[in-house]
Amino acid sequence: MVTSIDTIKEYFPSLAGAQVSQMEALWDLYQEWNAKINVISRKDIDQLYLKHVLHSLSIAKYIRFVAGSEILDLGTGGGFPGIPMAIFFPDVKFHLIDGTAKKIRVVNEVVESLGLHNVKAEQIRAESLKKKYDFIITRAVAQMEQLRLWTQNKVKTKHSNPIPNGLIALKGGNLKEELKALPRGEFVEKVPISDFFKEDYFEEKYLIYLQL
Ligand code: SAH
Repeated sequence: MVTSIDTIKEYFPSLAGAQVSQMEALWDLYQEWNAKINVISRKDIDQLYLKHVLHSLSIAKYIRFVAGSEILDLGTGGGFPGIPMAIFFPDVKFHLIDGTAKKIRVVNEVVESLGLHNVKAEQIRAESLKKKYDFIITRAVAQMEQLRLWTQNKVKTKHSNPIPNGLIALKGGNLKEELKALPRGEFVEKVPISDFFKEDYFEEKYLIYLQL
């Protein structure tokens, strides 16, 4: 069965009408843009709400960012998890970056069509970033130790959110070796996404929080 916008509404009943409309609009926008520039695997595009929107929103089940927070989406690709998160948190500022220009082009087109005012998309590599953020979010970009090295000097020292500033990565499969490669003493939390969503797709999928 194809997961639809109705599933998103069931898991997030607090979404306002305008946010639901934006979530609905993602369908046509990604069908259109993915046909021109491939940013989502063609075999996954029919599962946009399950594999991309709902998966991205697992972060919103883990943490409610306070208004005014600044969040970096590192390696956003076609806009995940950044775009669904920016729709969900209209009072939070999102910086979506990717090293590839054509991906940022798609993100900018989607952002403009949705009328999202809390997103800045930029073609830049993580290594070149100068700004600091409250949190870095990311999916399917690099191993935890690499992510840690890229982001350890990019979090603000002032903490304004329910948990200390850090990195939140969406990951799948066996993470044992990857987590072992982190230096000892780092605070890491591994949360099964199946704690939030019952769909089979989320078995063996995790949200990893690393305090920075
Ligand atoms: N987060 C998206 C895309 C994952 S693909 C999703 O889950 O759908 C990985 C993306 O990370 C690619 O678009 C690649 O260009 C980008 N990327 C990899 N290393 C990067 C770096 N150091 N800085 C910026 N972007 C990077």
